[in-house]
Amino acid sequence: MRRAYIAGNWKMNLTPSEGVKLAKELAEAAKGCSAKVMVAPNFVTLPGVAEALKDSDIIVAAQNMNDHTSGAFTGEVAPAMLKDLGINTVILGHSERRAIYGESDALINSKVLLALEEGMDVVLCIGETLEEREGGKLEEVLSRQVTEGLKNVTEQQMAKITLAYEPVWAIGTGKTASPEDADGAHALVRSIIEKLFNKTVAEETIIQYGGSVKAANVKELMAKENIDGALVGGASLSVEKFLPIVTFDK
Ligand code: PEP
Repeated sequence: MRRAYIAGNWKMNLTPSEGVKLAKELAEAAKGCSAKVMVAPNFVTLPGVAEALKDSDIIVAAQNMNDHTSGAFTGEVAPAMLKDLGINTVILGHSERRAIYGESDALINSKVLLALEEGMDVVLCIGETLEEREGGKLEEVLSRQVTEGLKNVTEQQMAKITLAYEPVWAIGTGKTASPEDADGAHALVRSIIEKLFNKTVAEETIIQYGGSVKAANVKELMAKENIDGALVGGASLSVEKFLPIVTFDK
């Protein structure tokens, strides 16, 4: 049985004081909800939000990290720095990291392996562009991103990996994949995981959907067999918008 996992990616939004305020409001409002809930603030907002949520069930995650443990990497953040704040979860391979900062599957894989080595949980993002989808490359792209992103990850370590399928054309655009299309892509991802590992791992892996998830579409997405959660951008920036997503089953 896969437990629903709803995550809010705050991206480069909210100052530290705004983030702490939202975190406190969310902790109060989401008390007792059945889903696993995570928020991912920017780096400078992480310490305050981690402190504000330390007695709640809400997980605090980083949006990225470096693939080295320390050293001359100006502007970067290492896993030990996150762990020192009590942050044990990291989002890796977000399409904005891939497209804007040129992160390759190989780089993302080295981040995944380091996070796992450090005992962290990972949300690994994958997804095709509109051009790739229209060019009939959905399967090829997802297969490459999953296979290369999870290279050298062991079957045991897969318990620490969540996949987030986010069609790039649906992120921040207001366009959502239809529940049927999203479920089809999730089924494909699950079959790739089965080929790489086995049926049990494939059945146990949580696969979130991301791309303009909101209160109005979360129920029908979550009703699909292969959709186990959501990675939410814009609609995670206020309690009014995020709470109905977190409590989609109410
Ligand atoms: C995201 O940032 O991962 C995302 C899916 O954004 P949005 O919900 O705004 O489309």
